Amino acid sequence: MAFANEDSMDNGKIELKGLFPGELDLIVTKMGMASYRTRQLVDWLYNKGVTQFDDMTNLSRAVRQQLDENFTILDLSVVGEVKTASEDTVKFLFALPDGRRIESVLMWEGKRRTLCVSSQVGCPLDCHFCATGKMGLIRNLNAAEIVDQVLYGQRFLRARGEELTNVVMMGMGEPLLNFDQVLRAIRLMNLDNGAAIGIRRITLSTAGHVPGIQRLSKEKLKIGLAVSLNGTTDEQRTQIMPINKKWPISTLLAAVKDYQEYISRRVTIEYVLLHGLNDSADDAHRLVDLLRDISCKINVIPWNPIEGGAYERPPQQAIDHFVRIVTDAQLTATVRYSKGDDIGAGSGQLYQELQTVA
Ligand code: SF4
Repeated sequence: MAFANEDSMDNGKIELKGLFPGELDLIVTKMGMASYRTRQLVDWLYNKGVTQFDDMTNLSRAVRQQLDENFTILDLSVVGEVKTASEDTVKFLFALPDGRRIESVLMWEGKRRTLCVSSQVGCPLDCHFCATGKMGLIRNLNAAEIVDQVLYGQRFLRARGEELTNVVMMGMGEPLLNFDQVLRAIRLMNLDNGAAIGIRRITLSTAGHVPGIQRLSKEKLKIGLAVSLNGTTDEQRTQIMPINKKWPISTLLAAVKDYQEYISRRVTIEYVLLHGLNDSADDAHRLVDLLRDISCKINVIPWNPIEGGAYERPPQQAIDHFVRIVTDAQLTATVRYSKGDDIGAGSGQLYQELQTVA
């Protein structure tokens, strides 16, 4: 048998988490088990989220032992947990099997319980307002490492009598640069008899990787797409997001429009407001012109200061004025004050915390 995650074999054992039901089926067949065992394995792995074969109590002792001899189940260990004073955001710092660290952020908002997950250790895109970008890319996460963040968040909430409702791929990394593993993880977290996160409740956020957006549209997955725009001219956007040199605003927005038409779903445009750089009335008017033909909602995010950062958060008056121009033009815009500023859990603040929590 050959599996997608054989490169994560540990001591000759194959990692089970990250495998699709069809792949688990091959294992079940090879081990001479009845086919209904696949459904039980999916339930244990992706719904109940057990991390030991011994906990799979509806499998015989002999089968559990056989599984244990040949396979492993990834269990990311939490090495740090920080809560905001308002207790509506908690950040988990996970240690990966190779000792690297990643973070996930869980947010409570009304009835929503949203987990923001990482797709890479670090990020190669170097958006200048983002602390994660300063790490560079260390490595991609595999599907097991991505989906296990979700399973942990689900277990954390269930222990409190709550359920995870939404997942956003907006933590460390550019998800479209780790396309195959991210897509595999999305399909796994969506499994009906697994974590069962509704496909429309999963959002992928990109800095504007155009080939990735085009590829994603062909998957017709109906996940939400969020695009981090943050500038209204190429000169301005290139200054803060080097990816804009490769795929300038017109190319990016053409891909976004195509995606939105393919998927028949409104996209989200993220716009981080940086004082004196992209927060002027002219910017607001240009933003309206750029987005007029795209079915979208705009999240205006006043910048979160990071250590050594070169930018300032706009004064409230500038934020309000910017948003008023956009909404007066009949576009939908909401100011999103990043949750978790006081624990370094806001967008782009993960790297700082990695230096201090361990
Ligand atoms: S904002 Fe996102 S894409 Fe840009 S450097 Fe940070 S993690 Fe990477």
